[in-house]
Amino acid sequence: MAKYNVVFVLGGPGAGKGTQCENIVRDFGYVHLSAGDLLRAERQRPGSQFGEEIEGHIRNGTIVPVQITCSLLRRAMEDSGKNNFLIDGFPRNKDNLDGWNKAMEGVADVKMVLFFDCTEKTCIDRCLNRGKTSGRSDDNLESLQKRIQTYTNSTMSIIEHYKKMDLVCELNGENSPDKVFDEVKVALDKLSS
Ligand code: UDP
Ligand code: MG
Repeated sequence: MAKYNVVFVLGGPGAGKGTQCENIVRDFGYVHLSAGDLLRAERQRPGSQFGEEIEGHIRNGTIVPVQITCSLLRRAMEDSGKNNFLIDGFPRNKDNLDGWNKAMEGVADVKMVLFFDCTEKTCIDRCLNRGKTSGRSDDNLESLQKRIQTYTNSTMSIIEHYKKMDLVCELNGENSPDKVFDEVKVALDKLSS
């Protein structure tokens, strides 16, 4: 048996991944690891050799090489001392998927993929709104358009890959946070029963 249980959380920028992960942590006791947050923390860490590379990818909406992201995830998993993880915003492309499979085989089992589906318009509106207070260097229209392009061109096929493995629980991210969470609860209850 693998050491760690993992639920991946995917969806476009602003689809509600972070919001729903907070709810899940509160009610289900998973450890929430946002790949984007881990990369932003690494970018800020004094002495990090990856800071500039990470910032370039974040602004451009492109994807950081998997060796960097996967080692940050793995270290956070080990440091937590826990076993059940929500990994938010990863894997986003084939490089991420292949790197994860190689590094985590026998270490972590992917139990489910929560996929928040949302229109492009909603994603853009929400992120621009968030950008008023988030201080994020990528919550602006130019970065957002690139992020959505990356999502469409690279991340959708990862969701398709997990659909074929029958691991995807698809939720309508257009709905209110409460309504979405009602559906998330049903999915996670099934997983733990
Ligand atoms: N990112 C990445 N690899 C990951 C997760 C994030 O390269 O596994 C980078 C990528 O440039 C992305 C940015 O971090 O556009 C922000 O990701 P985050 O998940 O925080 O954005 P969200 O989708 O939640 O708005
Ligand atoms: Mg997020």
